[in-house]
Amino acid sequence: MDSTLLNIHAILPRSRVNGPGLRLVVFFQGCLRGCEGCFNPATHSFEEKELRPAASLLEGRMAPGVEGITVSGGEPFLQPRGLRELLAAARARGLSTLVYTGFALEELEAGPLMRECLPLIDLLVDGPYRMQMPEETLLPRGSTNQRFHFLTTRYSLADLMMPGRVELFISGDGTVKETGFGSLTRTVL
Ligand code: SF4
Repeated sequence: MDSTLLNIHAILPRSRVNGPGLRLVVFFQGCLRGCEGCFNPATHSFEEKELRPAASLLEGRMAPGVEGITVSGGEPFLQPRGLRELLAAARARGLSTLVYTGFALEELEAGPLMRECLPLIDLLVDGPYRMQMPEETLLPRGSTNQRFHFLTTRYSLADLMMPGRVELFISGDGTVKETGFGSLTRTVL
């Protein structure tokens, strides 16, 4: 069976601020929500950024010590077939799965394709970003309206305190990029 193509904004091979432990982060391209103050506006456009087969996206990318994948955006559930294939591939490797979405869990449960992704997710963080309600602890979410749904027993709230809110990456040419829940430079992945 041919794998669904995913439109990807970026892949971060190692992060410690996008969920429990060391994680590979996949940023999907495309979001319609337009949350005021969104940390990653470059993901909103639906232009073809980088098309990759979902089922093989993780091949050759897993750094030692990575315990799971985080899917962020953009809006992952606007590419539900590819999201499901990616999550299934992660599960097949024994990796944990965390997905961020602007939808509410109840909306995902009402959509047939979106609902099929839910059994493959360990932790879902739902709801749009509200800049008037900033998260100020080390919990991995942008605003306090966003809910943590532990859809399996793999994680609990005790696993969610991050070592920081923002992580910086400095490349050989001096370019600085960042990820996490806040902004020091406004040059985000
Ligand atoms: S749902 Fe996420 S990616 Fe989309 S606008 Fe809101 S914060 Fe940004």
